[in-house]
Amino acid sequence: MVETMKIAIERVKKSRLSEVDFSNIPFGKIYTDHMFMADYRNGEWTNFRIMPYGYMPISPATPALHYGQAIFEGMKAYKGLEGEALVFRPTDNWRRMNISGERICMPPIPEELFMESLAALIDLDRAWIPDTEGASLYIRPFMFSADEYIGIKPSDDFTFMIILCPVGSYYSTPVKVRIETHYTRASQGGTGYAKAGGNYGAAIYPAKLAQAKGYHQLLWTDGKTHEYIEESGTMNVMFVIDDTLVTPALSDSILAGITRDSVLTMARSWGMKVEERKISVKELIEAMEAGRVKEAFGAGTAATIAHLELIGYNGKDYYLPPIESRTFSNNVFAELEGIKRGLKSDPFGWIVKM
Ligand SMILES: *Cc1c(COP(=O)(O)O)cnc(C)c1O
Repeated sequence: MVETMKIAIERVKKSRLSEVDFSNIPFGKIYTDHMFMADYRNGEWTNFRIMPYGYMPISPATPALHYGQAIFEGMKAYKGLEGEALVFRPTDNWRRMNISGERICMPPIPEELFMESLAALIDLDRAWIPDTEGASLYIRPFMFSADEYIGIKPSDDFTFMIILCPVGSYYSTPVKVRIETHYTRASQGGTGYAKAGGNYGAAIYPAKLAQAKGYHQLLWTDGKTHEYIEESGTMNVMFVIDDTLVTPALSDSILAGITRDSVLTMARSWGMKVEERKISVKELIEAMEAGRVKEAFGAGTAATIAHLELIGYNGKDYYLPPIESRTFSNNVFAELEGIKRGLKSDPFGWIVKM
């Protein structure tokens, strides 16, 4: 447990803030002035510190580098009207990080460690939260094994960190995806439900093959039969078929997205018919051919709502209806953005002010 959350703070001598062109922010390349670090030693979290963002020494025998004992989270903060940071559902990210950690044999992070370190870091780098349209502060908590040992076993020592980066919008155009029926992102009994490093490293090659054919991302299918739709890149996927919002039910091979949950919660509160169930590729293709798929989008923190422009399958591209006609996903995007930015009321209590 965390006895007393005393965080040692070493500030930068000179902020890099003035060097950043906020009108043109690339995703994930610019980091704020500071970072948070904590160590797990002898069965407890200790040595809480905030220091200037930068390189850090680690042992070449760090198991995270060899065996992927690493997990991460992703969430966003927006600038409120009074300059406060509005963080979207951070306790859900904390909860999910511990679910991921358990799968990789990592110790849980106490809620107060997660929330207080986040608040302290955001407070220090508050001026970095962009207020331009579509922009926000992306928050990346992560944990890795820090033993100096190249045997494969549960580690004893860990490092928990948080870094921050101002980001613009993720996809600037509607997304082209291809249904993947050969490669597998996650399989039954695997780590797909965990935000664990190895999942993402393994997905780059199949995604690269699709990108060479002009698609942005893959639409993954289940690892066993490749007959059922799972998710896309780092987004859950949703369809409006006729008047029903349909999304694959969660399983151990699908990441339980917080954006996914937010969209479902909102849809239900609007009285929309919602189905969380298996969606076969066959059903989806037939529904697209019959013109019954009115909307299709990815849902994730980085992109919020990413409209799908087309879905490729077996060498054929199935185009989806024009973006302007997609009432539900346009409304849900506007509502979510409004809540996140503090411009609309927050009926579900999703915003934490820091
Ligand atoms: C992070 C992630 C998502 C989206 O989760 P959010 O909590 O909405 O950001 C979906 N799928 C995968 C594989 C992810 O890593």
